[in-house]
Amino acid sequence: MKKSDHDVIIIGAGPAGSTMSRLLAQEGFNVMVFDKRKELGEPVRCGEGLGSREIIAQDIDLPKPCISTEIHGAKVVAPDGSEIIWKDKETSGWVLERKYFDKWLMEQAVKQGAKVKSYTRVIDLIKDAKGKISGVTVSRAGREPYEVSAPLVVSAEGLEAQIARKAGFPAVSTLYDVDTCYQYEMQEYDHENLIELYFGNEIAPRGYVWIFPKNDKKANVGIGIGAHLETGVKEGGIKGATPREFLDKFIENHPKLKDASTLEDFGGIISVGAPIDSFVIDNFLVVGTAARQVDPIHGGGIALAMEAAAMAAKAVIAANKDYSEAKLKPYEKVWRAGPGKKVARRLLLRKVMESATDDDFNHIFKTIKAEDLDHVMQGNFAPSIAKVVARRPQLIGILKALI
Ligand SMILES: Cc1cc2nc3c(=O)[nH]c(=O)nc-3n(C[C@H](O)[C@H](O)[C@H](O)COP(=O)(O)OP(=O)(O)OC[C@H]3O[C@@H](n4cnc5c(N)ncnc54)[C@H](O)[C@@H]3O)c2cc1C
Repeated sequence: MKKSDHDVIIIGAGPAGSTMSRLLAQEGFNVMVFDKRKELGEPVRCGEGLGSREIIAQDIDLPKPCISTEIHGAKVVAPDGSEIIWKDKETSGWVLERKYFDKWLMEQAVKQGAKVKSYTRVIDLIKDAKGKISGVTVSRAGREPYEVSAPLVVSAEGLEAQIARKAGFPAVSTLYDVDTCYQYEMQEYDHENLIELYFGNEIAPRGYVWIFPKNDKKANVGIGIGAHLETGVKEGGIKGATPREFLDKFIENHPKLKDASTLEDFGGIISVGAPIDSFVIDNFLVVGTAARQVDPIHGGGIALAMEAAAMAAKAVIAANKDYSEAKLKPYEKVWRAGPGKKVARRLLLRKVMESATDDDFNHIFKTIKAEDLDHVMQGNFAPSIAKVVARRPQLIGILKALI
């Protein structure tokens, strides 16, 4: 039998792909990573917020250029301007410079012996005579495709997940399960090293506006709104409204932003839906945003991608070269029992938040305190619901889904 070119092929050099390649390479695996981008980390399509938890868990010492500024907490703001300031280990972290962060993470994998090829798109899967996945077809810089073999292929492709789909995974999001986003990098914005989140149906229907502070009085000011609302396909849709129009309105009405400059504009899509039904088949696994391992409240996926990649790497190492579905399954089991549970509770919370009116939001924000938010984000809803319902019993109708 012909020897494979590599032990593992990883598609995508985002946080999931670079983490997995680093952890496998340091165990002696011959890892090949392909990324279609000309330069890793660019262009940036991200709010760049990252909680410190995952970086600490993986014992990563982020160098200065990867960090734009430190974050000491969060400020969440209701439609009527009532706010809760919430500072704890859940809300501390950084706003990154992702163009350095993604590349630096990949450099750490290369230092461990992983190989990476930028500007190289994986265009298809190859299978052996028995129909087993045995590698990929790639095209470097749009040139003649060629085949590369490995007994394990990993999709760390992000939201597009084209190769995961070719492998049979239902990695297709409905409009309801994604938010369309728009973001400006702005300057000058006098901030307090807090991430700021603004809620309200007039501000960001089925979503929120974020202000993530950066160094030199800069900030990423962005918005995500339910994609189904933008196109008006579902009842209640706001036909013709785009995230940028909502964001511009927000900025015009924000006293500290209305005169600020814009240094960068971009649009993007985030997943806020459920993870895909399964992450592994024989000789293939899916990790990170490709598997929809994202937070359904805010669409954040960097930490979840890195955490899942570490779990996947552990299962691959333990599989001892047998990449059958059964041997890869522990990755999925561990994920679903841990982060998966948290993601499921947040999905439920997102759905409940969707049915709240601006008036409900105002009441909720006036009633609960920062310590309640802590419990809510951990999925412990009961104490906050009791407080909210005590003063507005009619909210039990929408909140009961959380109990
Ligand atoms: C507007 C916006 C704001 C966001 N803000 C935040 C935030 O503040 N905090 C946060 O945690 N998350 C945020 N996210 C989400 C975050 O960017 C992703 O969840 C995270 O990058 C997922 O990492 P990943 O490694 O799974 O995938 P990605 O980072 O998407 O990496 C996938 C890589 O695969 C490559 N690729 C894809 N297909 C192929 C192919 N066929 N061949 C070769 N290469 C391929 C891509 O070029 C890419 O480099 C935001 C997303 C958007 C769109």
